[in-house]
Amino acid sequence: MSEKNIDVHCSFCGRSKEAVSVLLAGIDGVHICENCVAQARQLIEAEQADQSSGADSSVLLLTPREIKSHLDQYIIGQDEAKKILSVAVYNHFRRIWHVKSKSSAKSSNNLGSKKKEKEIVELDKSNILLAGPTGTGKTLLAKTIAKILNVPFCIADATVLTEAGYVGEDVESILVRLLQAADYDVALAETGIVYIDEVDKIARKADNPSITRDVSGEGVQQALLKLLEGTIANVPPKGGRKHPDQQLIKIDTSQILFICGGAFDGLEKIISKRLSLQTVGFNRNREKEEIQSGNLLRYLQPIDLKRFGLIPELIGRLPVITYMDPLDHTALRAILTEPKNSIIRQYAYLFELEGIKLQFEENALEYIVNQTEILGLGARGLRSVLESIMTDAMFEMPGKKVKKLVITLNYATEHFLNSTLSTIKKVS
Ligand code: ADP
Repeated sequence: MSEKNIDVHCSFCGRSKEAVSVLLAGIDGVHICENCVAQARQLIEAEQADQSSGADSSVLLLTPREIKSHLDQYIIGQDEAKKILSVAVYNHFRRIWHVKSKSSAKSSNNLGSKKKEKEIVELDKSNILLAGPTGTGKTLLAKTIAKILNVPFCIADATVLTEAGYVGEDVESILVRLLQAADYDVALAETGIVYIDEVDKIARKADNPSITRDVSGEGVQQALLKLLEGTIANVPPKGGRKHPDQQLIKIDTSQILFICGGAFDGLEKIISKRLSLQTVGFNRNREKEEIQSGNLLRYLQPIDLKRFGLIPELIGRLPVITYMDPLDHTALRAILTEPKNSIIRQYAYLFELEGIKLQFEENALEYIVNQTEILGLGARGLRSVLESIMTDAMFEMPGKKVKKLVITLNYATEHFLNSTLSTIKKVS
């Protein structure tokens, strides 16, 4: 045996050749023993499992500040909601990562790793409630967050849900949509985001303790509880009602983030009533003035939601509450042109595909915003107004040898007044 052979040892754990049964040689005198190969393999497998489960650790590279600045590119205003959501979403994905690192710490301990398991603090899930007028960007906010984080996303409408066994959709149907959005990858769906719209419409029918069951109101709230909190739900893969001989897919909802949105008409009155009861004392008038000048939803508290008709158990499962501001003239004007995928940019792109340069004069844009305000549909009205102005051009232009189309105030006014939309009077 040569001198050289006597010194051979594993370059990773230091065991000598005699202490192991296999020692593989690499270049430059590097060696690895069978124990270290096995350990490395298990670590690689754990890492690959983490990556394929959708809990992409790159998500964690985005801080709340970074999430918000991404949101700023798509959503105008709503600073408070964007900030609160950024923090909640950041914590949510931290929590998922935390659960995963907990389980991989356990498995590496099983491998005999010396790494000490950190003390584990259980982090509660923080689903979110978004209250605010229609067309102010609630759905857009939820959708954009899912896009930024690259997780599956679906929208569910609370009004079509009913308590199990009644005509309508079971709450589990929500998960079918998420599963579809994740291309039937269950692990991926389990880290997705669900936006439940019109959650205000399933409020308990207050002051009406009827003998019949409230299957689309309180019944749905009850059914949603488990889903929101975290359960293993049995989901029929193609949707529809469950039936006995159908194969069901198990989906763990404990890491799914639920964002519940609604206009909550009448909630401001409830808040105002509570506040006027509270504001007694010296600064009463000043406080009252301040409150009256702002969006009352900013003072929203769980007690107001209870008075509105949400059951306390459901409110308890929506620990993050935030609100949307109504969109004023400046915000609507900004929404028209500023977001990365603004409606004007979308139209310009459509015309560009036809080889036509589309331009809007400033006073035409102002006109669109003024008409939108009259509709009272929030930013959703912008598209309707624009559609009514642009339909003729969209019909005529393709195929014509036109290189440029400028929308002037005259053009906008004439086409809008010819449309049925112009007959609508201000809603509020
Ligand atoms: P909500 O869910 O509050 O009823 P949406 O998110 O569906 O409203 O908004 C409807 C459309 O209006 C969106 O697709 C978007 O184009 C536009 N929009 C609404 N609010 C905003 C906003 N704050 N910033 C940018 N666009 C907005």
